[in-house]
Amino acid sequence: MFIFCTNRYNLHKFAAGTLNNSNYQILIEVPEENSLNDWLAVNTVEFYNRLNLFYGALRSNCTNESCPIMKGGPNIEYYWKRKKKTIPPDYIENVMVLIEKILDNPKVFPPDESVKFPKNFKRVTKEIFTKLYRIFAHIYVCHFQDIENIGAVSHLNTTYKHFYFFSRKFKLIKKREYEPLKFLNIKFEIQEEKKEKERQKQLQENNSQNKNN
Ligand SMILES: [Zn+2]
Repeated sequence: MFIFCTNRYNLHKFAAGTLNNSNYQILIEVPEENSLNDWLAVNTVEFYNRLNLFYGALRSNCTNESCPIMKGGPNIEYYWKRKKKTIPPDYIENVMVLIEKILDNPKVFPPDESVKFPKNFKRVTKEIFTKLYRIFAHIYVCHFQDIENIGAVSHLNTTYKHFYFFSRKFKLIKKREYEPLKFLNIKFEIQEEKKEKERQKQLQENNSQNKNN
C-alpha cells in the first residue's frame, strides 16, 4: 500500500507503533510537517489492518447460525445494499474486500508523495471509517464473549478507543452512527478526561516543585 522508504511509509510505521502510547490526545494529533491527508491515509490503513486481524480471529464464530442478522445493537441492522439483507459474514467480507480495493488503488491512496491525493479523499476516508465502525459494533455487540474467550478484551478496547478518538477528532463518522457503542464511547471519554486532569495536576505539581528548588 505504501512504498518502502518513502515519507508515507515511515509515517505508516509511526502510526502502527503508537498503540502503547496511552495519551490519546497526543496520539491522534497530526505529526509536525505532515499533511492531514497523509495522516488520515496511514491511520486508515492501520485501523483496517488491526480490525482485519480481530475479525480474522473471530471469523469461525461468526456464522449464518450464530449471526443471522448484521446487527450493531438490538434495534440496529446494517444492510450491504439498500434494503438488501446480508448475513454478517458476507457483509463483513464484502466490506473488507471493498476497502482493500480502495486502499490498493494508487489514485485514491497514493503509495508515495509523487502522486497527489484525490479531491474527494476525505469523503472516501469517511466512508471507510463508517464501515469499519459498523464492524467494531458487530464485534462488541455480538462477539464480546468470543473476544473474552481469546483473552483479547483489553487489546480490542485499546484499538477501538484509539479509533473512536481519531474518528471524532477528524469528524469522520456521523453522530448518529456512533449510537450502537455510545455507552462505551461515554465511558472512554470520562476515562480520558480523568487522566487529563491527573496529568494537568501532575504538571502543576512539577512546576511548583521546580520553582521551589
Ligand atoms: Zn458475527
